[in-house]
Amino acid sequence: MDTLDRRNFIKYLGATSALSALSYNPLSFALSGSKSKAKIVIIGGGFGGATCAKYLLKFDSSLQVTLIEASDKFVTCPFSNTVIAGMHKIDFITHSYDKLVKQGINVIHDTATDIDFDARKVKLSKHKAVEYDRLVVSPGIDFQWGAIEGYDKTASEIMPHAWKAGEQTLLLRKQLEAMKDGGVVIIASPANPFRCPPGPYERASLMAHYLKNHKPKSKIVILDAKEKFSKQPLFQDAWEELYPGMIEWHPGSQGGTVTRVDTGKMMVYAGDDEHKGDVINVIPPQKAGNLAKHAGLTNDKGWCPVDQSTFSSSLKKNVYVIGDASIAGKMPKSGYAANSQAKVCAASIVAELQGFSPSSPSWVNTCYSLIAPDYGISVAAVYRYSDKGIVGVKGAGGVSPRTAPDSFRNMEAVYAESWYKSISSDIFG
Ligand SMILES: Cc1cc2nc3c(=O)[nH]c(=O)nc-3n(C[C@H](O)[C@H](O)[C@H](O)COP(=O)(O)OP(=O)(O)OC[C@H]3O[C@@H](n4cnc5c(N)ncnc54)[C@H](O)[C@@H]3O)c2cc1C
Repeated sequence: MDTLDRRNFIKYLGATSALSALSYNPLSFALSGSKSKAKIVIIGGGFGGATCAKYLLKFDSSLQVTLIEASDKFVTCPFSNTVIAGMHKIDFITHSYDKLVKQGINVIHDTATDIDFDARKVKLSKHKAVEYDRLVVSPGIDFQWGAIEGYDKTASEIMPHAWKAGEQTLLLRKQLEAMKDGGVVIIASPANPFRCPPGPYERASLMAHYLKNHKPKSKIVILDAKEKFSKQPLFQDAWEELYPGMIEWHPGSQGGTVTRVDTGKMMVYAGDDEHKGDVINVIPPQKAGNLAKHAGLTNDKGWCPVDQSTFSSSLKKNVYVIGDASIAGKMPKSGYAANSQAKVCAASIVAELQGFSPSSPSWVNTCYSLIAPDYGISVAAVYRYSDKGIVGVKGAGGVSPRTAPDSFRNMEAVYAESWYKSISSDIFG
């Protein structure tokens, strides 16, 4: 895709994120008159769940929509790397549920502890159980504690993961600020699949931006369980240009797979190699959010199988799973993907309740990564449903060109921030 086409494509994507859901023609639901009044409960008020709640009501205002979310506010992982690098404060990535409440969504701040599929009830930690006709589960990810020897929840207070945003983001920021000039930051990156494939490399880039300006003798070592990573040539070109000699990347075959940590000694062990770090960011292997496993919605690999055309669970009736927790064919585990899946899922629930047969869905994803505040890159794709599940549409999307003027990189950084603002307002506005 040449430069001009790509730019137009990115603009087009902004429109198609809404169109992917509109392919179900929600207008026809609004005009149908046969409104369902069904009770829909959604567990998890993040990118998938909050979008789904909002769009269910848009598609059928008679639905009784209840959103169950453990936290009072939602702190996004997207743009959390800018907080770690000191470019933004945590407020920039913190969102309230007030506007969803005003739109008529019953938001309950509590933890869902179990699901009674026969009685169609979600059990909560503090409130009484909530009944549903259809249930959407979007709990995001949890960590496989112990998959790296010595790395558990307690260890994450010393070696933060910062892979769920909030306290952990602030902890990593604090550690980076406290580190001496000449210190070593270690980032341990997991094997696929995991939340946000380009995330560890964006993090390394923005940390390098901070260190270059404040502690230029420091180094970042990425120990990676993989052999290659998302947008790799673009990241590595940019590291050479902006941060020469500062970022070292070790693939799995060259001592990258971290098997053990020692928080007391601030050591990381990868095969025969050992590394001492001043700041250690361990991104552990992941699985679907704990509730999904507890309720029996996961397969033996820890993720939730679904009918990829509607996101209805392959394992339980009247239940849908969206976002990072689901197995969504070729779609990555990203916030934009979760947002796109949520719209398709909402439309499919409304269609089912009203006796429609939904038309063929499509989805969209763009992942921007910042390498510096004025240097952005992206990968974009459009997806369709096929007999192999969700697949990419050939010829649609692509990555930023490898050779481009500074002005192009600068514009992609501007697009990244406008993407963030528009998706935040699409979900929480
Ligand atoms: C550093 C980083 C950068 C990223 N950058 C981008 C980016 O630029 N673009 C992009 O598209 N994606 C990005 N992502 C990925 C994105 O954050 C996730 O893919 C997205 O949040 C997934 O949405 P979700 O709905 O599945 O989960 P989440 O958004 O995590 O939402 C899950 C919600 O469920 C709640 N919950 C879980 N269990 C329960 C329970 N039992 N009861 C009640 N509530 C519960 C949680 O509190 C949480 O609020 C990034 C991720 C990271 C880590």
